[in-house]
Amino acid sequence: MFPLACALAVALVLPSCSSDTSEKAAGLEPCVEDTAGFQWEVDRFEDIRILRYRIPCWNRLTVRQKELVYYLTQAGLAGRDIVWDQNYEHNLAIRNVLEKIYTSYTGDKKAEGWGHFETYVKQVWMSNGIHHHYSNLKHQPRFDRAYFAALLSATGTACAPELVEVIFDPAVDARKVEKDASRGLVENSAVNFYGEGVSTAEAQAFYEKMNQPGDRAPLSYGLNSRLVKENGTLKEEVYKIGGLYSAALEQVVMWLEKAEKVAENDKQAVALRKLAEYYKTGDLRTWDDFNIAWVRATEGDIDFIHGFVEVYNDPLGLRGSYESIVEINDFEASDRMKVMMENAQWFEDNSPIMDQHKKKEVKGITYKVVSVAGEAGDASPATPVGVNLPNAQWIRAMHGSKSVSLGNIEDAYSRAAGSGLLDEFCHDQEEIDRAKKHGDMAGKLHTAMHEVIGHASGQLEENVQASSLSLKEYHSTIEEGRADLVALYYVMDQKLVDMGLMPDLEVGKAEYDAYLRNGLLVQLRRLKVGEDIEEAHMRNRAWVSNWVVEKGSADGVVVKVVRDGKTYYDVRDYAKLRGLFGELLKEVQRITSQGDYEAARALADGYGKKVVPAVHAEVLERSARLNIPPYAGFLNPVLEPVTDASGNITDVKVSYMESFPEQMLYYSDKYGFLSR
Ligand code: ZN
Repeated sequence: MFPLACALAVALVLPSCSSDTSEKAAGLEPCVEDTAGFQWEVDRFEDIRILRYRIPCWNRLTVRQKELVYYLTQAGLAGRDIVWDQNYEHNLAIRNVLEKIYTSYTGDKKAEGWGHFETYVKQVWMSNGIHHHYSNLKHQPRFDRAYFAALLSATGTACAPELVEVIFDPAVDARKVEKDASRGLVENSAVNFYGEGVSTAEAQAFYEKMNQPGDRAPLSYGLNSRLVKENGTLKEEVYKIGGLYSAALEQVVMWLEKAEKVAENDKQAVALRKLAEYYKTGDLRTWDDFNIAWVRATEGDIDFIHGFVEVYNDPLGLRGSYESIVEINDFEASDRMKVMMENAQWFEDNSPIMDQHKKKEVKGITYKVVSVAGEAGDASPATPVGVNLPNAQWIRAMHGSKSVSLGNIEDAYSRAAGSGLLDEFCHDQEEIDRAKKHGDMAGKLHTAMHEVIGHASGQLEENVQASSLSLKEYHSTIEEGRADLVALYYVMDQKLVDMGLMPDLEVGKAEYDAYLRNGLLVQLRRLKVGEDIEEAHMRNRAWVSNWVVEKGSADGVVVKVVRDGKTYYDVRDYAKLRGLFGELLKEVQRITSQGDYEAARALADGYGKKVVPAVHAEVLERSARLNIPPYAGFLNPVLEPVTDASGNITDVKVSYMESFPEQMLYYSDKYGFLSR
């Protein structure tokens, strides 16, 4: 609901756990990691690729912590079937049919029809149902009814005629979530949040009555139930033990109660207890209590997201989809943040901004990078890369929130991308080599500085409003650009080498290459023909890049090269480029500190909005040839407890499955609490 504004924008947040200096400084065990030969991408079909992520530094956890992670991941998976049923009422029945065929068919698997069938099954697994996870449109099988009938009969599988219609008739339940009110939000959505005959107007009226004007701590009405009509009266079927989804929630609670016994501290135990209580009672007050307890539990290395959380699958934005994410602190990133926090004042004092715009006492911003240990429900196989919760505004305002970036997911994305984009868009071999050697670290440092010292830096002049008010629609892009510029200015500073954060300035050079390559070329592949750059981060990367290229053109700081009809940018003077970043930072801080709306507009629109159509077309054409599917799903690692003679857990082993169907079938078999 509240996307992580900054972390999402940066392509590289890579835990590598290889820096000796920071580990010794923090007194931690070194990570035992061998990623050589690890296969990041394991499957591809239609517009999807299936990737794997790793859990770094698993060996740094105590046995008790590993046990906790194990229970939490089991609690997550135990509710897997819930999201299938939430997404569409026939999803579980269809999955049963498809999986029975998939596992028992012994006919010709070289036949074209079988290939299409297999693709369809994978699409359904990927989206926890028959509708695309992103577009919400129903998957259209490429095999026909006759072939399907043959598969049913060859495997002795029963399938209700109604399900066959659902699979093959494009007009039946075509869209999971309808966003066009004129077509009927509830009426035209296939999602299973509203029962037969419930209209949009009725549902809206039902909840309007609950909201008390002036309630400063409103419950999340409708979050954990299905709204149905019974004898003409609306009523909620609440997700709870003894209510809807009871069989799955009983299992969820059993694992949560085990987790509570090995919690890292009391606050975490309180949160887990509240969550279990919520699943037992379905009481939304307890859900709020849980969220408050969860926000307070900040001290452990392990954290989790669990519940009916995000509401974007409900056309009315009320009901939460079941999801679970289990998180482990990214120790290396935390060390890095700590060093930056400790030096925040040094960065502020040495910044190129005007003295009157510097904070006398600056405090770094706490920002967390975590590693995912397991995901389930709506967060799997497709996953977010950053999460900011809870969603209740009043809890955020009164008790705070947690914002995390999922580091090992980002890592998997970037490693799976391979070197295709580098080979295509780098100006020369030196740039490619530097990117391969230092790109990961450069990206991580940039993100950390952007978040920890970038957003924290600078102060307003007296009687100037917050920049969200003074700079209005340009506030976001100016603020993100300002934070980027702090990071860019310092990533070429010897101070980072002296602090042990990077080996030498080559890391800074890699970041300069990458930033301009992305801002001027690579990011354009995300725009369709004819579109302007609108998204705040994309726009800020464009105006920062275009500005320094223009200002440095007389001195040949960055040179545009066209070779064989392809455009490249070559940085010729890194020190001067750093000077330009510093100059722009000073100006952008002035714009912010003085609330200079006109200057913000001139910069953001003049340098960041328009794309040169010929260059855009060229970038689209060059990236299309690289053929990288736009969406990714992820396999989860497998956690396996090792027990002693009396059944106590003495260790938990991590392994990685090789195949997408293998994992999906294993889950349906082991956690199919609503489907059998
Ligand atoms: Zn930011």
